[in-house]
Amino acid sequence: MHELVVTSPDEISTLQIADKLARQLKGGELIELVGDLGSGKTTFVKGLAKGLGSKDPVSSPSFVLKNTYDGRLRLNHFDLYRLSDPGLIKHEIKDALDEKDSVTAVEWAGATGEVLPEKRIIIELIPQKDDKRRIKISYRGAQ
Ligand code: ADP
Ligand code: MG
Repeated sequence: MHELVVTSPDEISTLQIADKLARQLKGGELIELVGDLGSGKTTFVKGLAKGLGSKDPVSSPSFVLKNTYDGRLRLNHFDLYRLSDPGLIKHEIKDALDEKDSVTAVEWAGATGEVLPEKRIIIELIPQKDDKRRIKISYRGAQ
């Protein structure tokens, strides 16, 4: 597993970091977003969508659990904050990961247990003083 830590001083920088990462994606990637409420997970997904060339508005899919944004690659965006039983979403996540030319980003993946594959890119957002965030990007499993 290799990892990289960057510091984002503000929201715009987080969008730019995500945008840059999105441009390197090939399709098939799973991106897990880790961090407390308000740490910037959805903001990071906005940057991913922009970097993939999507103009679709990004918001946390609180009630439907999944949103999709069309771009160079389709972005599947899950927010599993309210999910108590991962079995409910298992097939939907699997279908999203099996899709050709798409990437899947998941907020609050904790409830999913073994449902998600080990191979993933983990984005951890750690709030610092003021608007600053430490952003740890780890590539887990064979990439
Ligand atoms: P989460 O999805 O983790 O709950 P959001 O992305 O919805 O978080 O909200 C993050 C909030 O923090 C937004 O209001 C955003 O403007 C603000 N913010 C301030 N500084 C930053 C930063 N450096 N990176 C990301 N978001 C930031
Ligand atoms: Mg969110």
